[in-house]
Amino acid sequence: MYTVSDGEIRERFPHRWSACSTSVIESMPFYHVHPGSRCLTIGTAGCNFRCSYCSNAHIAKEDPELQQAKMFNIPPDELVAMAKRMNCRSIVFNVNEPAVSIPSLIELSREAEKAGIMTGCLTNGYMTEESADILASIFSFFNISLKGLSDSFNKNFIGISSSKPVLRNIKRLAKDRYIEITTPVIQGENDNELNNMAEFIAGINPSIPWHVFRLLPEDEMKDEDYPDINFIDNALTEARKKLPYIYFHNFVGSDWVNTICPACGDVVIERFSLGCGGDKLKTDHTIEGCCKSCGSEIHLLSRNLK
Ligand code: SF4
Repeated sequence: MYTVSDGEIRERFPHRWSACSTSVIESMPFYHVHPGSRCLTIGTAGCNFRCSYCSNAHIAKEDPELQQAKMFNIPPDELVAMAKRMNCRSIVFNVNEPAVSIPSLIELSREAEKAGIMTGCLTNGYMTEESADILASIFSFFNISLKGLSDSFNKNFIGISSSKPVLRNIKRLAKDRYIEITTPVIQGENDNELNNMAEFIAGINPSIPWHVFRLLPEDEMKDEDYPDINFIDNALTEARKKLPYIYFHNFVGSDWVNTICPACGDVVIERFSLGCGGDKLKTDHTIEGCCKSCGSEIHLLSRNLK
């Protein structure tokens, strides 16, 4: 996605997008960012990971040059106008890894800011500290994927030698940006790390929402088993003592998609779980971002951060 020309790193396909559509923010997933709001979702091509289970492999893992015929050019001002026209509160980059398209995203975020539209992204968090700072200047909210902790998991399933850069960048971005974290669970491979991941997240900030995602493997792993719901349910019951905003989804009928008030235990935000990333808001019971029963503040981007 980048090339060197005249001694400078340049983007090969600026402002070319592989996707552009509208969605509800819960299906990204972002559960604590303006619940129930609409967002414009976009993506480009390419990725710095090679996850064996990637559901967007046709875009993320193929040569971006070969994708160009299927992609389309939309300048930043038109994307922002589209977001406004479609009543979107935010623009969310969610198909592949945003670090592969930084210059276009810088320009887009400037246009979005002028129009009062927020920008957010899903990222794998694997980049230099300098790049993490640039992403922090582009996006005001992040969902960072914490895929696995051990070197062996990262080597075998992601194609990297260590999770250390990801852990470092999660801490870095959490300092001055709003973050949520997502962990796709692979049966028998990273489900034994859930407790250690919960410790890590709680050590940064116990209010960070954590989405534990029942991964339905695709691409190279499409024949693998789906994760066992009861096993994960048990592991998360323990983890919830450390992390009150913990969610378990990607299957129909999950009881783990509501937000519970950490102070009194009442349900403060109800959602539907439609499976396959199709979650939706049912009812937001908060009053000005606080629990309607006990008045405690709920950790929401709409209330706490700009
Ligand atoms: S980080 Fe996401 S887009 Fe990139 S290979 Fe992994 S699953 Fe696919």
